[in-house]
Amino acid sequence: MAATAFHAAHALLPGGWARDVLIEASPQGDIHAVTPGIAPTGPARRLSGHVVPGMPNLHSHAFQRAMAGGAERRSPAGQDSFWTWRETMYRFVGRFSPEDAEAVAAQLHVELLEHGFTAVAEFHYLHHQPDGMPYADVAEMAKRQLAAARRSGIGMTLLPSLYRYGGIFGKPPHDGQRRFLNDLDRFMQIVEASRTATAGDLQMALGLAPHSLRAVTPDMLRAIRDFAGPIHIHAAEQPKEVEECLAATGARPVRWVLDNTPLDARWVLIHATHLDKAEVAGLARSGAVAGLCPTTEASLGDGIFRLPGFLAQGGRFGIGTDSHVGTAPAFELRQLETSQRLRGHARAVATAEQNPHPGRTLLDAALAGGAQASGRRIGAIAPGMRCDLVELDDTHPLLLGRQGDALLDAWVFSGQGNPVRRVACGGRMVVEAGRHVDAMAIRDAFGQAMRRLTA
Ligand code: ZN
Repeated sequence: MAATAFHAAHALLPGGWARDVLIEASPQGDIHAVTPGIAPTGPARRLSGHVVPGMPNLHSHAFQRAMAGGAERRSPAGQDSFWTWRETMYRFVGRFSPEDAEAVAAQLHVELLEHGFTAVAEFHYLHHQPDGMPYADVAEMAKRQLAAARRSGIGMTLLPSLYRYGGIFGKPPHDGQRRFLNDLDRFMQIVEASRTATAGDLQMALGLAPHSLRAVTPDMLRAIRDFAGPIHIHAAEQPKEVEECLAATGARPVRWVLDNTPLDARWVLIHATHLDKAEVAGLARSGAVAGLCPTTEASLGDGIFRLPGFLAQGGRFGIGTDSHVGTAPAFELRQLETSQRLRGHARAVATAEQNPHPGRTLLDAALAGGAQASGRRIGAIAPGMRCDLVELDDTHPLLLGRQGDALLDAWVFSGQGNPVRRVACGGRMVVEAGRHVDAMAIRDAFGQAMRRLTA
């Protein structure tokens, strides 16, 4: 494999926008030199638009892509909620074969890449056969996620999820959860197999995901807390979860995690929607990342994250697409900001005096938080980082006449069109002219899986 070079007419570097930037990467896909102000010569691939770092997606349950848009009906109960959606998900989850899971994940990755996500943290809990028995290879389903990532070219942080119980702390699991369940020993077998399967692959990393305080016990959290890598956990997504945690422990979920785990920069609290002021301050101070999934949180009626106070106190966040009702970084950031506007009757909420453009402020924050949550060297165009580049077509009607940060505002806050033209992932070109290079074959396999899943 030869070394790769790109020449960007405009590129967003750690120090800000630069013109005529030569980006050189090793054959393994790491950036080793970034040189602004250089004329386009030689074999470097020309990127004539605005080039931004590829966005990490910090929260995915890939199989739920097959459900997106398919759980929107009023139920006999009359009052739908996160909890009735979850019942639908449990029924659907029984249908997936390993082949289906891989085909759906690959299609998801194509859609993520085409919109500018270049890495995904897969919070993986669909471990076992439909009756709950493990596959012959206990890590079969985890390896299917890795296979899909290798096929699509997206970077992946695989997060095997520890899921043992059905309510806080130690309530018996629900029948619909049987494909997810492991004790600590079998969970560690999946982790070790995943470690072997990702070792030496610069496009991959390994983390852990205790599912939530509903699914594990304090002892289990103690057993895994020395893990040297990202640790993701769902927390405080729904008011009912806060009430149950208060009743069982006397503390709200994020307060409990703050007080009972060494919450630090390895940790990612997915959603963290329902926080009181002290939790906002504690989470911001901890260095952990808030894993926000704005379009999913809107779809499920979760609530609105307390962004202004969190940002003012230096809190870190990244974005995820979770149930995949949205698959575009621009739409996640737009939903995040516009929810704040609706609640606060204000505009340009995620800004500061030195950072007047919300598009830029949100992009910078989500790149940094997403990279931290992924445990990989991503999120910036700089030596030592993976060569993950997203070229925005500045001749697209959405962006025409815009430059720099104003162009980012237009990308995030206007229209439905997709101005992502080319995407390189680990130095490999995976999107050309707005389409994934293997889109048709991956879509065919997805179509076959969907026919089986919806038969
Ligand atoms: Zn989730």
